[in-house]
Amino acid sequence: MTDTVDSATRSQNMSRIRSKNTKPELLVRKYLFSSGFRYCLNDRKLPGRPDIVLRKYKAVIFVHGCFWHHHQGCRLAYSPRSRTGFWQKKFSGNVSRDEKVKQALLEIDWRVLVIWECATRSKKCLDYFAEVESWIKSSSSYSEISASDEL
Ligand SMILES: [Zn+2]
Repeated sequence: MTDTVDSATRSQNMSRIRSKNTKPELLVRKYLFSSGFRYCLNDRKLPGRPDIVLRKYKAVIFVHGCFWHHHQGCRLAYSPRSRTGFWQKKFSGNVSRDEKVKQALLEIDWRVLVIWECATRSKKCLDYFAEVESWIKSSSSYSEISASDEL
């Protein structure tokens, strides 16, 4: 019985990994829109179907959940204590896929920004969003924004 519940919960959780319109993503979109940026969502033609695509700036933004994308050193990126082998494999798969997607985008001259969930949850999120805005307008080819310096 326990097993059934566990695997049901697990597949529900698993289906969430590529889910769109997560709360952190919506917060970022709302901020960008109100700052006057216009963007496309989940462009299928680009590697990794980036969450947010700003063509005018040749820039894409990924909003990464800290747990699923295993944000290094982040308190939201805990490792479950049971089935550690399963989770380690899962996390390392996600991290290496993220890295491949990033390289593929940089190779075709797109700029890439990763916004970690912890930044969107922080009390200082408006500061982080301002960093997002200046990155978009910059010429930086890759950057990450997170709240890890607060932890
Ligand atoms: Zn984080």
